Amino acid sequence: MYHISDIKKFLRCDRLYWYSKDESGVFKPYLRSDENIAELLKNYFGISDCFEGVRNDPNERFFNEIDNYEWYVHPRFMDGEMRVNVPFMHRIDDQFDICFVYYGVQIKELDLLSYRITLKVLERLGICVRDIYLVYFNEDYENEGQLDLEKLFVCINSYKGKRLIDLVREKDFDYDEVIERIKNYNIDQTKPKKNRSCRLNGLCGYYFECFPEEKDEPDDSILTLVTSQNKNKMYADGIRFLKDADLEQLEGNRVQYAQVMASRNNGLYVEKMVLAEWLKKLSARPISFIDFEWDRYLIPAYPKMRPMDVVCFEFALYYIDEQGRMEHRTFVGTGDCRREFVEALIDYLPKNGPILAYNAEGAECLRLKELGEVFPEYKNKLDGIIERFTDLAIPFTDGLVYDIRMQGNFTLKRLVDICSDYSYKDLDIDDGMEAVFSWRNIDKTDEEQGNEIVENLKEYCSLDAYGLFLVYRWLIELTVESK
Ligand code: SF4
Repeated sequence: MYHISDIKKFLRCDRLYWYSKDESGVFKPYLRSDENIAELLKNYFGISDCFEGVRNDPNERFFNEIDNYEWYVHPRFMDGEMRVNVPFMHRIDDQFDICFVYYGVQIKELDLLSYRITLKVLERLGICVRDIYLVYFNEDYENEGQLDLEKLFVCINSYKGKRLIDLVREKDFDYDEVIERIKNYNIDQTKPKKNRSCRLNGLCGYYFECFPEEKDEPDDSILTLVTSQNKNKMYADGIRFLKDADLEQLEGNRVQYAQVMASRNNGLYVEKMVLAEWLKKLSARPISFIDFEWDRYLIPAYPKMRPMDVVCFEFALYYIDEQGRMEHRTFVGTGDCRREFVEALIDYLPKNGPILAYNAEGAECLRLKELGEVFPEYKNKLDGIIERFTDLAIPFTDGLVYDIRMQGNFTLKRLVDICSDYSYKDLDIDDGMEAVFSWRNIDKTDEEQGNEIVENLKEYCSLDAYGLFLVYRWLIELTVESK
């Protein structure tokens, strides 16, 4: 039996499918949704009585009930070995309208492959589909205290001027053929080929099983070259080190230049003058180092939230005052803690001096702009705080500093590993998404476990904030050492 997710994974990378097919992991969604979306959609469509499909239902279960309901929610179907689950089916006489759900606010690309497979299975089983609908979330909808489903959802049956059912029918796809390929697949007879999934969200978990020869690559391997179209080609041509990069095959950006120079210069490249100048604007005291954590909600859970908005639930702050003393503050809230977050931030942050964060523009500053919209009474203060932010990633992303131990990785974690003995590995929570998943559990645990989660969250976020200080101090040392 194969699901649409199997087909998609196999088409993305046959080896990835093969390696992961027997893995059973708990799915942890990136988007938070405390509400049951199928239940919300039932209310949206005005469904009071319906057929409800369950896991492993045979086709007969639907066909035995085909005349008994107007609405069918998550019925399951099998055609040969292809199994599909249809979110909603609406019977109109002898035909059906089917409805898919898009879990986002802007349809970047229609999932035509999934829709085509579903439609084909239904048609092969003799089910006549009259129309196809797609529901997604209205990005302009703002929760005014109670969810208004009419405004929350958008339901369409056409996309860019064309009917969805026509777009789906135009797509030609033979799942029998792919299933045959999956069944006959033999990993020992295929050579791994690099593809987008190898490094999509970091390194694929099977990378070194596919490319074991790269396991012992040096820190300045040509494969660590960033934003490069040609690094694999250079590697295949026998170029092993950044210092030997074929200049004709470089895109020529500043970071690549810094990488090549670091490889030629005992592993470190520093644009001394420019870095020193950049650091000058951070010389005032107090100086603050801050890190936020937040969770993103698919459905706006609280007033003044829109679909996909976030709730900032934590910050950790270190600051060095005028006397050179370091202070530490943290905040962790629960539920709708946006106001407490803002008030604690305004209270704890020194009233002046630079504030450092990593990727500040797209993270902390953006969050503060959003909070200023939600709480106009604090907007001026928050805008003033935003103006004091400096992004600590800039020296690295602008190619002022490159250490080959970064191995093409520009995360704060990597930099902390390089410039200090501190390690995230010893923490109970050791990455951002893990922090979010832990926070989601606070409400579901007893007081003791909740307190433990809060302590772990504080430890993790505090290391990020302290890591900013460590990297800042390292940058200063680099300018001093290189004088
Ligand atoms: S490393 Fe690349 S080729 Fe290997 S399984 Fe992962 S995605 Fe597929």
